[in-house]
Amino acid sequence: MPDFSYDIVIIGSGPAGATTARLAAEQGLNVLLVDKKQELGAPVQCSGAISRHAMEEVGVEPVDEFIHEAIYGFAIYNEKGEKKTIDYRQLAPEKYGPEQGKTPLGYVVDRRRFDRRLMTLAEREGVETWLKAEAKGYEVLPDGTCEVTIHHFNEVKKVKAKVVVGADGLQSIVGKWAGLRTQIRLTELASCLQFVVDKVETEGLLEIITGHEWAPGGYAWVFPKGYGYAEIGLGVVPTFTKNNAQQQVDYFMKSSFFKERFKDARILEVQGGGVPLAAPLKIQYADNMILVGDAARHVNPITGGGLHTALSGGKIAADFLAQTIKNGNDFSAKIMKGYQDNWLEQLGNKMWKLYDVKTEIFKTEDIPERDRLLYGTMSDYFSPNSEYKKI
Ligand SMILES: Cc1cc2nc3c(=O)[nH]c(=O)nc-3n(C[C@H](O)[C@H](O)[C@H](O)COP(=O)(O)OP(=O)(O)OC[C@H]3O[C@@H](n4cnc5c(N)ncnc54)[C@H](O)[C@@H]3O)c2cc1C
Repeated sequence: MPDFSYDIVIIGSGPAGATTARLAAEQGLNVLLVDKKQELGAPVQCSGAISRHAMEEVGVEPVDEFIHEAIYGFAIYNEKGEKKTIDYRQLAPEKYGPEQGKTPLGYVVDRRRFDRRLMTLAEREGVETWLKAEAKGYEVLPDGTCEVTIHHFNEVKKVKAKVVVGADGLQSIVGKWAGLRTQIRLTELASCLQFVVDKVETEGLLEIITGHEWAPGGYAWVFPKGYGYAEIGLGVVPTFTKNNAQQQVDYFMKSSFFKERFKDARILEVQGGGVPLAAPLKIQYADNMILVGDAARHVNPITGGGLHTALSGGKIAADFLAQTIKNGNDFSAKIMKGYQDNWLEQLGNKMWKLYDVKTEIFKTEDIPERDRLLYGTMSDYFSPNSEYKKI
């Protein structure tokens, strides 16, 4: 017999899981949210850039608790250092700026504090949360519900639920338990490394540096981090280079058009992780189960950003589950498919389009042409008229 019973059990309390949990509880569902970590968001494996709009969409107020720095636009560089600036303080000065009555375009957030805040907001809506709680498997029961096995501290707990949400990140095992094809091709997995540094000036812009020479298969970045700090990082796809990410960052810092700017940089932290520059999973559901966030590969294949899509995917999941659980007691794959249909309509079709654009760029073997295409795409992507502004 299970020890506990909920409408939904969410595995993973990153941005996707915590947002699904909060918005589902707001709509009356009885929710358990578990994470195997003892400190959410740690170690930090994220640069933390997120638009204000992404947070607004899911009712998260930007508060000082988790904000490192406000962002007002972008500077996109080509391989030679030629720059396109998209600064919303100049494009729409009546709306964007640091002055009272104006707003930033986005933020660089502290993922430790951001994730903790999202979990706290979920708890305040009545979500039960367990840390140091690792999900080990789930089994569909004859009565149409399922049972999740969770190791919570040193105890093994059996939890009954109508639906399990796999929000367990890039290394997701929930999808594998359900037999979904979750493998990522090596050609589509960027290995990312960033340094948090002192003594590098920034101007409230996210700086994106394109060019095979600096970041083969990906791009480099310089993000403001607040208090005079910055993040210098890049992602490389191993099939595009023999160098690893650390060698590339070193080369970028010492040899690029920014070498003067970086010459006094002092490294305070080293952070890294994998980013899927891949297509979303073709199937993101099974009997009594759906996937959300990185687990479903809801990651922007051009920018590698996954925070906005984790939050909006969480909302789509919560709305779907609230409706489905109120409507009846069939949680079979046939019904769960409705989640993916909603996601495709609201978000996924645009992500598939972005994936096609990215594939076109990186299948080009002519490096100068690939550089030109990536620079052009990045510049368009962040421009005020971009059709992709909302992901
Ligand atoms: C170097 C780097 C820089 C990045 N920078 C940005 C950026 O600037 N902007 C942006 O938008 N995106 C960025 N990303 C991507 C972003 O970090 C992810 O897309 C985002 O974290 C996805 O959120 P998530 O909730 O799906 O998964 P995660 O944040 O990975 O959360 C998954 C959670 O599941 C838990 N978990 C896993 N397995 C289990 C289990 N069995 N039981 C219980 N809990 C489990 C984990 O402990 C974790 O807390 C970056 C990624 C990297 C690697």
